[in-house]
Amino acid sequence: MNKKWGITIKPSKKLGQCFLIDKNFVKKAVDAANLTKDDVVLEIGLGRGILTEELAKNAKKVYVIEIDEKLRPYAEKITREYDNVDVIWGDALKVNFDELGFNKVVANLPYQISSPITFKLLKTDFDVAVLMYQYEFAKRMVAKEGTKDYGRLSVAVQYKADIEFICKVPPSAFSPRPKVNSAIVKIVKREPLFKVEDEEFFENVLRALFQHKNKTVRRALINSCHELGVEREKIKEILENIDFNVDERVFKLSPKEIGNLSNLLYNHLRYK
Ligand code: SAM
Repeated sequence: MNKKWGITIKPSKKLGQCFLIDKNFVKKAVDAANLTKDDVVLEIGLGRGILTEELAKNAKKVYVIEIDEKLRPYAEKITREYDNVDVIWGDALKVNFDELGFNKVVANLPYQISSPITFKLLKTDFDVAVLMYQYEFAKRMVAKEGTKDYGRLSVAVQYKADIEFICKVPPSAFSPRPKVNSAIVKIVKREPLFKVEDEEFFENVLRALFQHKNKTVRRALINSCHELGVEREKIKEILENIDFNVDERVFKLSPKEIGNLSNLLYNHLRYK
């Protein structure tokens, strides 16, 4: 049971309710976001409001999305004290982010939605996000080509943003304690490093390649040709005719090389 401000609520494992209790890590996350009184911040997951309170003190406006209405007493406490906090009750995966108009995101994410929420954020317009993830997930986000953690997530994120690993966070920083380490990551959105002809096709290429990340590009694309909506024989023919080293192993390709490969395949399929 968690008891804070005289409120007793049993945390839900299913909703990823490991609440931050160590204020040092709250400070680290807020500092990394370089908040000013001009910033409009989105937080995902109010919990007991430990992070919300610091955001409210440092930003112009805070939107916090929380799915669990049992946490209403914490929301009432925080909105009584800070008039710049709006609590939005619902599933962050379903809320229309574009309607809110925030420029920063700071959150200790419920880990079960780490992947979909990250992909959703990458499609949204903002400047900076400081997010807490499971340590293993964070390592995959920042991984460089040629390393064991490099994968679809690394390329998809690094294509649209600069990623900085801020710090590792031990289980003792939370209550209840999670079984694994966590990490704070800073995502700075920017123009894509390279231009892809078609983003949806690029995402399909990523999916096709990284289903076989230790294989060669040729083998991976033949085995996963269904992801591109292309027949096996057709993809074999295309691979013979593009100017790309298809004998390279997938995990050794940089994001830029994958973008180039995607464009070559796309143009070939569009024009032939
Ligand atoms: N920000 C608080 C903190 O740092 O202590 C809470 C973090 S806790 C890891 C994650 C919070 O997200 C929980 O309060 C949980 O109820 C909420 N949550 C889980 N799934 C959600 C979803 N799909 N949309 C919005 N909130 C969600």
